[in-house]
Amino acid sequence: MAPGPAFDRLALIGVGLIGGSIARAARALGLVRTIAATSRSEPTRQRIRELGLADEVVDTSAAAVADADLVIVCVPIGACGAVAREIGPHLKPGAIVSDVGSVKADVVREMAPYLPAGIHFIPGHPVAGTEDSGPDAGFAELFINRWCILTPAKDADASAVERLSQFWKAFGASVEIMSPEHHDLVLAVTSHVPHLIAYNIVGTAFDLRHVTESEILKYSAGGFRDFTRIAASDPTMWRDIFLHNRDAVLEVLGRFNEDLSTLTRAVRNGDAETLYNVFAERRAIRRGMIQFTLDSPAPNFQQSDSKPKADPMPRPYAASNDD
Ligand code: NAP
Repeated sequence: MAPGPAFDRLALIGVGLIGGSIARAARALGLVRTIAATSRSEPTRQRIRELGLADEVVDTSAAAVADADLVIVCVPIGACGAVAREIGPHLKPGAIVSDVGSVKADVVREMAPYLPAGIHFIPGHPVAGTEDSGPDAGFAELFINRWCILTPAKDADASAVERLSQFWKAFGASVEIMSPEHHDLVLAVTSHVPHLIAYNIVGTAFDLRHVTESEILKYSAGGFRDFTRIAASDPTMWRDIFLHNRDAVLEVLGRFNEDLSTLTRAVRNGDAETLYNVFAERRAIRRGMIQFTLDSPAPNFQQSDSKPKADPMPRPYAASNDD
């Protein structure tokens, strides 16, 4: 991206983990001249002011988007339609409107009808996150070495897509373009179903604890603790993901259950050959994933020592609560 601000005025609707990270990164890199921000509640708006995340913190989404040339909606998926309805009449002609929702097809269906002609709607999803929420949880380095998936319509303005791609690349992310439906299937298998399994097994273990008198907690240092880390994620966000990506999740869960049935049968029958062959094949697949790791352009700031660093896992399979 050329030196100097890429956008004059960025409006952030919702400033939690993701909106707060965008604000910090855009500031640190000088990507925008001005940031206007809003959040649903006064306590969060007050916190955004205290943290100095925006030049202007306003009470409504309509006020935030006035004169903005880039608008990024960073609220839970279920609230995106209502935000689009509110901001639609107040958008500057030619503005780019994007979002960060973890599901794309439903968000597009719910936002697009409210965005007037002349607005460039380019939905997005940075595949990066942590278990934490709120404006304090954000950090500028969150998107380094992560994917940002954009799902513009086929007839979207190519130069607007390129401007938004460059914006995310400046954060250290790699950008991939795909259809909303394909995004939802990919994320169902790489993120949504794994989260569902993690939430589920925590419940199974919790029920069993009465039988085992807290041994599960005591001996959870191995796989259980790592495997269930993602079950500490925000319940509102994950509720919305499963409400809005139902078809793709059910498709993946169907296949998962078939595979699990094969393993269950092998365990029940003491079928050593099947167990060995399946584990050997899956280990090879898992080890092979590392080869998909990509290099990505480093942004102009250092990674903070106090925050998670990019791990050596292949993106988008890397350990984070991306959703
Ligand atoms: P967050 O930290 O909980 O922040 C949510 C923001 O949305 C806050 O400003 C909150 O305002 C506002 N908000 C909450 N409910 C709302 C509603 N019903 N109507 C309007 N505003 C509302 O959430 P986040 O983790 O940044 O996630 C935001 C979006 O990013 C979600 O769509 C999620 O799918 C996506 N995403 C999340 C991750 C992740 O790992 N967390 C990763 C990638 C993408 P108040 O605080 O004022 O209530």
